[in-house]
Amino acid sequence: MDIKLIDHHMAKGSIYPFNTNHLYDYILANNGLFIRAENRAFSIVSLLKTCDVVGLVEIQESFKFKLPPVPMAISNTIFQKAKLSLPDELLLHLNYNKNTWNLTEPLQQQSPTSIKWKSADFDEFDFDIELHSHGHLIAYFSATDNKDETGLAIYAVIGQLEEMPQISVRVGIYGQHFAYIPADPVFELEEGIKDKFYDTTSYFIRSNNSAYSYPHREL
Ligand SMILES: [Zn+2]
Repeated sequence: MDIKLIDHHMAKGSIYPFNTNHLYDYILANNGLFIRAENRAFSIVSLLKTCDVVGLVEIQESFKFKLPPVPMAISNTIFQKAKLSLPDELLLHLNYNKNTWNLTEPLQQQSPTSIKWKSADFDEFDFDIELHSHGHLIAYFSATDNKDETGLAIYAVIGQLEEMPQISVRVGIYGQHFAYIPADPVFELEEGIKDKFYDTTSYFIRSNNSAYSYPHREL
């Protein structure tokens, strides 16, 4: 029985399908080192580092959202709830069950700059999407967020709720790697909500060498 949690592949033609018993895989390809992971909500191949490896085949980054997008009515409720919480931050979970998206508000201790769990026995991995608000501040992932977001999940942050409503979305791979993705495969959003993924003046640098143009680094 294969009990490896992390596997390593060399891209030499076809790449083995992802073994869902794994947490994630590394793939060394002609054009760089990639990480691959999958759960019930998505599959992702994301570039970790560009490098030339002669003799291997080239692969591309990819992201596939396997669930229907969060409908606009729920996205609107999220922004309304976050506004009602101003000036505090707010944390919300989204779960897809029985063909429906369910929005829940975990017990939390809120402040304008942080959120703390109130419940010690809260199962922190029991969600498909975790979203939090930065209130009046911009939608970016802070160093604290990087430390807190340790699951295999989609993470979103919203901000400037009254000034210029905005969202930033990323895939977290057990805190080892974050891949920034556009919001649109995941959320249906009201026009006028800014997706920070496309904001070239934001904190993210966009990669030029991939079909998906994912930004990889946070300054
Ligand atoms: Zn945050």
